[in-house]
Amino acid sequence: MIELSSSTWTDMRDVLASGPPLAVLPFGALEQHGPHLPLDTDTRQAEAIARGIASGLDAVLLPSIEYGNTWGNAAFPGTVSLSVDTVAAICGDIAASLDAAGFALLVVVNGDYGNRLPLQLAAEKRAAAGERMPVLVLDYPGLVDIGDQVKESPWAAPGLCHADELETSMMLAISPATVHPERFVAEYPGLPPDFGQRPQALAPLGETGVFGDPRAATAAKGEQIIAHVVTQSLAAIERTLRSLGLR
Ligand SMILES: [Zn+2]
Repeated sequence: MIELSSSTWTDMRDVLASGPPLAVLPFGALEQHGPHLPLDTDTRQAEAIARGIASGLDAVLLPSIEYGNTWGNAAFPGTVSLSVDTVAAICGDIAASLDAAGFALLVVVNGDYGNRLPLQLAAEKRAAAGERMPVLVLDYPGLVDIGDQVKESPWAAPGLCHADELETSMMLAISPATVHPERFVAEYPGLPPDFGQRPQALAPLGETGVFGDPRAATAAKGEQIIAHVVTQSLAAIERTLRSLGLR
């Protein structure tokens, strides 16, 4: 694995000369994660998972994008959101630049629900325009399966985890000094009957910003979750590389 931010241009010239490399881009967000997790939780998680993927692939790890589309959390102080257009443009511009440089594939490791649509839009636009280098967007494949295995607390809704046992476990594994266990609080907000079917803000649904229960979180669970998502991501990338004739 090579980290782009700490490499020199001559390092990258040599990497590119040895064959078209793969790039891995962690795409995070700056959004509320309850009273006990930092605002950059999604970025730190995406970066940890992207690092595992880049190591497994011997790929080029790009610097993280620390902002994302998170208007639904805007009512919580500290949340800073990009529009869907900006997220799509950032991803599209980075992809165009890597394409011109000769990369084989851009894997985007998405850490924020609100980025899903714009990142897919960026990938779709490139495919429709017939651009050479494809973009593969991964939304933590396998997260729900490993969540079902390790979680002791119920989900706030099927597959919904936000500042809960899963996210708190990952943060205990990645960056324990940023976690405030003395502030752990469980909250299971009542969700509207069409939750997930239309864009809607999270802020009015609960008081703390927690969707679930962080109290059973452990670093060991976090390590298990990250390892599983990295393994499932590598399998998904392998399928794409085979499909593209790159393996
Ligand atoms: Zn999160």
